[in-house]
Amino acid sequence: MSQTSILENLPAGAQAVKKGPQGLQVPEQPAVGFIEGDGTGPDIWRATRLILDAAVAKVYGGRRKIHWVELLAGEKAFDQTGEYLPAATVRDIKDLMVAIKGPLTTPVGGGFRSINVALRQVLDLYACIRPVRWLKGVPSPVKMPELVDMVVFRENTEDLYAGIEWAAGTPEAEKVLQFLAGLGAEIEPRSAIGVKPMSERKSKRLIRMAVQYALERKKASVTLVHKGNIMKYTEGAFRDWGYELAREEFAGLTCSEEDKQSGKLVIKDRIADNMFQQALLRPADYQVLATPNLNGDYLSDALAAQVGGLGMAPGANIGDQAAIFEATHGSAPKYAGQDKVNPGSLVLSGAMLLEHLGWKEAAGLVPQALSRAIQAGEVTYDLARQIMGATQVSCSAFAQRVVEAM
Ligand code: NAD
Repeated sequence: MSQTSILENLPAGAQAVKKGPQGLQVPEQPAVGFIEGDGTGPDIWRATRLILDAAVAKVYGGRRKIHWVELLAGEKAFDQTGEYLPAATVRDIKDLMVAIKGPLTTPVGGGFRSINVALRQVLDLYACIRPVRWLKGVPSPVKMPELVDMVVFRENTEDLYAGIEWAAGTPEAEKVLQFLAGLGAEIEPRSAIGVKPMSERKSKRLIRMAVQYALERKKASVTLVHKGNIMKYTEGAFRDWGYELAREEFAGLTCSEEDKQSGKLVIKDRIADNMFQQALLRPADYQVLATPNLNGDYLSDALAAQVGGLGMAPGANIGDQAAIFEATHGSAPKYAGQDKVNPGSLVLSGAMLLEHLGWKEAAGLVPQALSRAIQAGEVTYDLARQIMGATQVSCSAFAQRVVEAM
């Protein structure tokens, strides 16, 4: 691994993003890391870069510019360094603080479950953020997709996802069963066992990020989504810690659903199964959702389907030391190198990145242009087969249409 920090080797004119007392300090020409990704990653990254650079140039006319710095991960990293996730990449992301990545194929027998999960863990990217908003022109299975405008903050490090589990019949599972029997738990012999840890610190830091986000953007409400009626001490505690945090840290700025006060952010909660119904029946009542890991996983994908599916859904994994913006779909290896797939998910994640930098005007232009290009009817294969009368074009040609629509 190279010992030189990326910060000593930035492209000419580029400066690093830094953390200041009031949040990120973003220079006019920041260096931002990119991992192009495996499979269709290079195609959608090329399209995304073209669109993001065009939006920034259009809005700021040369005053602002992103210097993209390539970081290696996945198959390209393995070919060049013998490792799927080189330590230098992790260090460079920490130094640059902001990065974007295409999808990475999970290596078979690569030593860890997934490079994506490994990145989240080593960088402690504790919030998985998914904005869910319908773009005019995108085919949707519901009647009024325009009513959906929600942002899901999903806890990314705890819950049943922590991977603490033992297979049925193993000595470890038997040992845990014996221990639990001593505590009075009646469990079927030879059961498999999984553990669901949820802590006050990690729940609160996720909910804090959601509340801050909602306050900064003057959203009407934050909803704590949980299954606390059944899992009282884990999911129920998530809800209780959320209300406690609002009382202790945001007292003058928030209020309850029962005692709504004008100008204040409403903190409310919904049981997870009800939330799935609410999302379909009363979507306009929900703005920011804070959820534990597992329920948030299901809810994010269900909401994405409501506005056009994962192919168009953006996402980011954010912690205190770094933020990675990424496509929410996989590497679709069967279309690799065919310049065929829809770049929409990575493009919209790129728009989130611009917003994270505080470049709101450019961030707003990207979804607008994407929507206009889709409405004009020259789209990638996945959209072409759902939109009557549409013409199928390549990934790169679609990107060109988006730029022309700015
Ligand atoms: P996938 O998302 O790659 O593909 C699922 C289906 O969606 C396929 O039919 C594919 O052709 C289609 N599709 C995906 N992206 C598309 C796009 N942009 N435009 C149009 N159609 C698109 O899921 P998979 O096949 O289960 O996984 C492939 C690889 O990706 C696996 O190795 C998996 O581990 C990995 N993966 C990575 C991430 C990530 O990097 N965050 C997420 C999911 C899966």
